[in-house]
Amino acid sequence: MNNRADMWDLFHSELTDIVGENHVFTSEADKLAYSSDVFWVPNLWIDRKKDPLKPDYIVQPGSVDEVKRVMALANREKIPVTPWGGGSGSQGGILPVYGGIMLDMKRLNRIIEIDEVSHTVTVEAGINCTLLELALNEKGLTFPHYAASSNCASVGGFIAHRGSGTLSTKYGKIEDFVLSMEVLLPSGKIIKTLPVPKHASGPGLHELFIGCEGTFAIVTKATLQIYDMPQERRFAAYLFNTLEDGIEAGRRMMSQGIGMNAIRLYDPGSTKTKVGDVLGVKFDNDDASYMVIGYDGFSEMIDVQEKLTNRIVDDLGGQHLGREGGERWWNSRYHFYYPPYEFRLPWMYGTMDTVCMYKDIARLYRAKKDAIELNFKDLGIRYIAHFSHWYKWGVMVYDRFIIEEPPEDPQEAIRLHNEIWNLSVRTSLANGGVINEHHGIGLKLGRFVVEEYGEDGFEFLKQLKGVVDPNGILNPGKMGFGPGALR
Ligand SMILES: Cc1cc2nc3c(=O)[nH]c(=O)nc-3n(C[C@H](O)[C@H](O)[C@H](O)COP(=O)(O)OP(=O)(O)OC[C@H]3O[C@@H](n4cnc5c(N)ncnc54)[C@H](O)[C@@H]3O)c2cc1C
Repeated sequence: MNNRADMWDLFHSELTDIVGENHVFTSEADKLAYSSDVFWVPNLWIDRKKDPLKPDYIVQPGSVDEVKRVMALANREKIPVTPWGGGSGSQGGILPVYGGIMLDMKRLNRIIEIDEVSHTVTVEAGINCTLLELALNEKGLTFPHYAASSNCASVGGFIAHRGSGTLSTKYGKIEDFVLSMEVLLPSGKIIKTLPVPKHASGPGLHELFIGCEGTFAIVTKATLQIYDMPQERRFAAYLFNTLEDGIEAGRRMMSQGIGMNAIRLYDPGSTKTKVGDVLGVKFDNDDASYMVIGYDGFSEMIDVQEKLTNRIVDDLGGQHLGREGGERWWNSRYHFYYPPYEFRLPWMYGTMDTVCMYKDIARLYRAKKDAIELNFKDLGIRYIAHFSHWYKWGVMVYDRFIIEEPPEDPQEAIRLHNEIWNLSVRTSLANGGVINEHHGIGLKLGRFVVEEYGEDGFEFLKQLKGVVDPNGILNPGKMGFGPGALR
């Protein structure tokens, strides 16, 4: 047994022994299906008939014990393991850069317990978010992490990428839902974090594993905060004279604690389409910014919240546009991510979301818009943005670039793609922002992590990685951690 192919056969038998032969896939078609998330680059490779990065085995464990045994084999033989949730990430987090095992978590999809007294649900991490939501809705409950990808993403994937849903302004990001977790280290050790997140018994261990993109551990279970379905969900829309007035309105709504479920402020470019073309409202101000607001809860409380909101809008000279714009947004909020509206090849595109303090946000937005539009003007680049996910201290800008006719040559196209990202991320960092707000780092943005954390901060993270994963088998090549295990 001394050549690579024989060894690979041997591992194949061990894997089928663990999960059953119906749950190990090695055909070229299966490997192709697991060679891409929605990161633009692997899709370009496939589109241009280049060979994408493929795993050697796709393995679907059906229990935590099976995950443990797969990890034991991988750790012993130093085989890279890439966890796969739903494959809906946009950062190349699931790309099997060094081959090895693609650990598809979708069979770990059980709802273990719904605690209606404490309003929590405990699930296996591979569960699809929409299926979880439907099960909760039957009991009048909801898990309001309403991300646009809920139909195709898993709870584990959201935890791994620190995701955000459309109503995060009220309910928070995924890390605000996670109360405790079970994670499995490459060594096979299982850590169950403390049953509640608020304690004074040392650091919050579960936080260490949120956002680590499968590079520290496999998330196997999570206990999440859930809510009662709201009695009413109400929407409204407004128009401000300038983007700055809109940002100030949002800032006041947050600092006064009015408690809306969503605030979406569109930049002047997007406002023209949303208000002029879609709502048919006439206005001749090129600086105007459109805002949509929503509330969840008891109707009497919403009446009061709306009154307080209107006072802020009036103080800032905003115009009331009624309910239709808000309702339209809510009812079609996911349409633009799916055919026939979604961005797709041959276009080049990317979502560059970042977040910063209120004092920096207008400057950051203008710096990014100017940098992208000026530097790539000849390519006809478009830059569009809106501001959603509002906090007491700051707000996220969800900005995107689109080039409808990128270079035909794939290498040239990828060089251009990287140049745009270099400029985008470095402009965010230079203006008080971060690499990314809720899509993660993955392969796409790993090269910037040291710039965000600083040399010493990143060194500390690398040391932690070395402790939890000494053989470097977990998701090598991601988050800037470098190659790791190489068979
Ligand atoms: C149409 C569309 C809309 C989107 N809208 C949103 C949105 O509104 N909000 C948002 O936050 N994101 C959004 N995204 C991005 C994406 O859905 C999220 O990043 C999501 O977190 C990915 O989940 P997934 O289960 O598909 O993870 P995958 O893409 O399979 O994996 C993502 C990363 O997590 C790791 N991982 C997966 N499962 C585990 C596990 N159990 N343990 C350890 N690591 C694991 C993977 O190795 C990878 O690094 C959108 C994507 C699409 C395609």
